[in-house]
Amino acid sequence: MFLKRLSSAYLVEKDYDAPLFYREEGNKKFQEKEYAGAAVLYSKGVSHSRPNTEGMSLCYANRSAALFHLDQYEECLKDIVRAGMHGYPERLQPKMLLRKIACLVNLGRLQEARQTITDLESSLAAKPTLTPSSHQILQKNLRHLKMKIQEKENLPETFPAALTRAFEDMALGEKNKQISGASLSVSLHTDPLKGRHLVATRDILPGELLVKEDAFVSVLNPGEMPPLRHGLENKWDTRVTNGDLYCHRCLKHTLATVPCGGCSYARYCSQECMQKAWECYHSTECPLGGLLLTLGVFCHVALRMTLLTRFEDVDRVVRMLCDEIGNKDICLPENKNLVKTFNYTNRGESEENSKKGETPIPGCNVSGKYESNYNAVFSLLPHTEKHSPEHKFICAVSVSALCRQLTAASLQTQTMSLKSSKLKAVTPGLCADLTVWGTAMLRHMLQLQCNAQAITSTWH
Ligand SMILES: [Zn+2]
Ligand SMILES: [Zn+2]
Repeated sequence: MFLKRLSSAYLVEKDYDAPLFYREEGNKKFQEKEYAGAAVLYSKGVSHSRPNTEGMSLCYANRSAALFHLDQYEECLKDIVRAGMHGYPERLQPKMLLRKIACLVNLGRLQEARQTITDLESSLAAKPTLTPSSHQILQKNLRHLKMKIQEKENLPETFPAALTRAFEDMALGEKNKQISGASLSVSLHTDPLKGRHLVATRDILPGELLVKEDAFVSVLNPGEMPPLRHGLENKWDTRVTNGDLYCHRCLKHTLATVPCGGCSYARYCSQECMQKAWECYHSTECPLGGLLLTLGVFCHVALRMTLLTRFEDVDRVVRMLCDEIGNKDICLPENKNLVKTFNYTNRGESEENSKKGETPIPGCNVSGKYESNYNAVFSLLPHTEKHSPEHKFICAVSVSALCRQLTAASLQTQTMSLKSSKLKAVTPGLCADLTVWGTAMLRHMLQLQCNAQAITSTWH
């Protein structure tokens, strides 16, 4: 009950009355030339809008104007397309086309700019919808843009091939055969206290790249932002959080977000990110928004970790967990148990390790090689004995609240999936083994406390 009350203080559902409010607030910022702030408010408007309405198209259109002033021409062009897709009114088209031409000119896409000018001129000739004074202003702007095109066309090519080398291309030097993505300057070890860790094998040079690995899981940290109390003057929230500025999947900074169709809080840098997130985890997370914000980012990471795993090692890990649950609590002090667990896991597949008599390194595959996968994450130590009883209690309560909510959402999804097959894939399978998933999430929450590096958080 208490959690329910806390969760409901977050505005995570769509409120179709909100877009107009956010658009007007955005317009105020725009007038003050605070374009980034305006763009965020328009994004909030988009998140609450019904698709294919003038409301949504105007939010996108206004945001495109803000992005234009911020010199983000590519993003501006995308928003112009989005505004058009959601029913941008005919009477405002010339203004929008003018902005499009200006973007194309600034991006050096002169051919397309010329074509758009021709389109605009012929549509103006066919349907003169503008008042004489705005027609004059438009013509003046068009003349100016044509001049700019001519100037640019006369300039010699000034863009040599890119010379910069991205971090992604940085070489690791000699590749480590035991640890994927690591250099030969480190080797992998394990001990009961530290768990799996790296040890230097030789002197390390300043700036030497040792390990390069993508985060297994990342969740956008919304930052410290208490929910708005009910009964305050403003029903809607105009404060800016990380959630407004970064893609909720790839964490890219963006002012031109695309909203989730189901909630008002998840936003993405692109349609692709939105779809990927939906397929991989957000279809489960979407109805849990308020609860996840209340329970905090560790709980969110723990849930997402188990959701992502469904696509990787799920059978194996679930089997492993089931065996463990049958005998003992998997979250109890793990020193000996964990090694046993992994001995057990590896036993059926390879006899090699036991023959050699080496202690297998938790999370590595049968031939002792480390790779970034769920097995590797799962085997990080939770250091249960070091956590306070209060902390363990909070973790357990959080996970059980999440499990309850998942069960409720699953029942709903099952009913809905009778009508729409699109949603079916996610929750029912998860809920069939809810005890197992709950145990895995609890383990991850305890791990996170002492493996802070496991989180990719965004702080600004
Ligand atoms: Zn993204
Ligand atoms: Zn959503």
